[in-house]
Amino acid sequence: MWRASVLTIFPEMFPGPLAFSLAGKAREAGIWSLDTVDIRAHATDRHRSVDDTPAGGGPGMVMKADVLARAIDAVADDRPRLLMSPRGAPLTQTRIVLLAAGPGVLLVCGRFEGVDERVIAARGLEEISLGDYVLSGGEIAALALLDACVRLLPGVMGAEASGAEESFAQGLLEYPQYTRPQLWEDRAIPDVLVSGDHAKVAAFRRAEAERLTRERRPDLWAKLASKRERES
Ligand code: SAH
Repeated sequence: MWRASVLTIFPEMFPGPLAFSLAGKAREAGIWSLDTVDIRAHATDRHRSVDDTPAGGGPGMVMKADVLARAIDAVADDRPRLLMSPRGAPLTQTRIVLLAAGPGVLLVCGRFEGVDERVIAARGLEEISLGDYVLSGGEIAALALLDACVRLLPGVMGAEASGAEESFAQGLLEYPQYTRPQLWEDRAIPDVLVSGDHAKVAAFRRAEAERLTRERRPDLWAKLASKRERES
């Protein structure tokens, strides 16, 4: 079973959306498990504080190293330990595939201005970012990461093939999709898709995926071009 442990001061936020659809069914089927660790349960003072004022001054509060370390030590094992953080490496589908192939993850959700730097080093936390914007806490980032991993676990997605062709799987964005009705508001589904010619369909999709990637994501396109250069 693929195991996720989430450390948070808001355990009620989980499983949240992961109780539904593919992820929810897969959890009921025992394909993956989710447990939350309430960081506050590891506080020791009378007020059960998890945060304190930043050393050196400035606004906001910082999550305490000692409390967070105790929470981590309660569940840490051989799984990757990730700290959701806007300073981290941006999360990619390549990383999701690797995480999904492993034993699971331990995810630390920050709050306030972030966490004491020392606990990141002392507990070997790897910082992972959802993107270049600031959330108010790591929980939504953790949910996104888990959703992306769980759908790749064996037996979760309906058609086994649907993971291989989608966006990013081959360094390309996905081709456009259509479904009935054939004609809608004077817009027809491209003829080739209803021609029944599988080779032509595949060629059309490939060309469209390349066109969309070139137009929308020159960064991905450049990566693909240099990969092709290396391989030729
Ligand atoms: N002061 C910090 C932001 C703290 S936001 C800074 O400027 O870098 C509070 C918490 O939300 C963070 O500790 C982190 O756990 C989470 N968070 C915010 N933005 C995120 C992002 N883009 N990706 C992942 N986690 C994020």
